[in-house]
Amino acid sequence: MIEEDYLPISMLNQLAYCPRRFWLMYVQGEMAINAAVQEGVYQHQRAHSGRRNQEDGDIIHRRLYVWSDRLRIIGFTDVVEERAGQLIPIEYKRGKMGKWLNDHIQLCAQAMCLEERTGRKIEQGAIFYWRSRRRVAVAFTPELKARTETVIQRAFQLLSAGQMPPPIDQYAKCRDCSLEAICLPREVQSLIALSPEKAP
Ligand code: SF4
Repeated sequence: MIEEDYLPISMLNQLAYCPRRFWLMYVQGEMAINAAVQEGVYQHQRAHSGRRNQEDGDIIHRRLYVWSDRLRIIGFTDVVEERAGQLIPIEYKRGKMGKWLNDHIQLCAQAMCLEERTGRKIEQGAIFYWRSRRRVAVAFTPELKARTETVIQRAFQLLSAGQMPPPIDQYAKCRDCSLEAICLPREVQSLIALSPEKAP
């Protein structure tokens, strides 16, 4: 396995949210640290405290290193519960559940890695949203797996094309994006409208 050729699973979340955000973060290394991002880091540290322990008969694995040679992705799970012979990956997220499926894609990619590493079928996982204190069950359906594979293929296509994608046309996403001040979506869209051949 050559790790440099493998995509970080967390970046699939960014790509599923917005291809330009994926490019800014993964290719250009942009990171805007605001209060929300810092809170997310803190919550992940809490989820990762302690590596393996037993709670009410369930085994809890924290921060497992996983990868898929077939999909060429690599990363960490926050938590994997081992309950009644089932492995259940759990991803911890800062806020509350959004309208987009990017968190589901990230979790599904972890599950596909776990399946490849263990040879066991992973039926379902969960996303725990700190702010709403809600645990949302996620079924790893064939549709979600297919969608996850499409996102992975899109990531490799973007990287081999070597060109930053233009801003998306979804203001609700841009408003919640920590990179808005770096991306300047509206300004760039205006420039593209004036001179489409120079996009993005
Ligand atoms: S501001 Fe909008 S277009 Fe720019 S990276 Fe964020 S979501 Fe994507």
